[in-house]
Amino acid sequence: MAVRIDPEFRRLVRERLRDLDFNQCYQCGKCAASCPVFHRSPELLNPRKIIHMAAIGVREVLTQPPLWRCTTCYECVEQCPQTVNFVDLVVALRNLAYEMGMAPRGVQEEVETVLKQGFVYPLTGRIRQVRQRLGLPPAASDLEGVLQTLREVAS
Ligand code: SF4
Ligand code: SF4
Repeated sequence: MAVRIDPEFRRLVRERLRDLDFNQCYQCGKCAASCPVFHRSPELLNPRKIIHMAAIGVREVLTQPPLWRCTTCYECVEQCPQTVNFVDLVVALRNLAYEMGMAPRGVQEEVETVLKQGFVYPLTGRIRQVRQRLGLPPAASDLEGVLQTLREVAS
């Protein structure tokens, strides 16, 4: 499939991610060689390729599944001769994808659930009962404080 370079997206990435050091990348591939997900299958995740796509302005980097498969284990960061922090880049690109409405639906829904109730899953009556039975304190007794902080960060 032909790669389409989008100058507008490239400008956006350069502007928004200007504090990150990924432009130091010289595409040696050591990050991929050290990545446990890449070892499982290069099709699943190739950090070198993600850096390249972001650097040249390929918008699909935000929508393709590999961006969401990084476990943020930092192995590639340890190995990079150019001290590129790929984990910072992944987090920044995921945030950008969410802001642009391009994150996978499941991710969008999880964020909305967290912003609404402070958890990634619905806090059902059943969960409350189980916690009570186990002698655990009520979940998120300071929920309003947590939600307030989350809304401030997200706004
Ligand atoms: S190891 Fe570093 S310099 Fe090499 S491809 Fe990966 S990010 Fe780029
Ligand atoms: S941080 Fe992500 S890309 Fe880097 S080695 Fe771990 S899983 Fe692979």
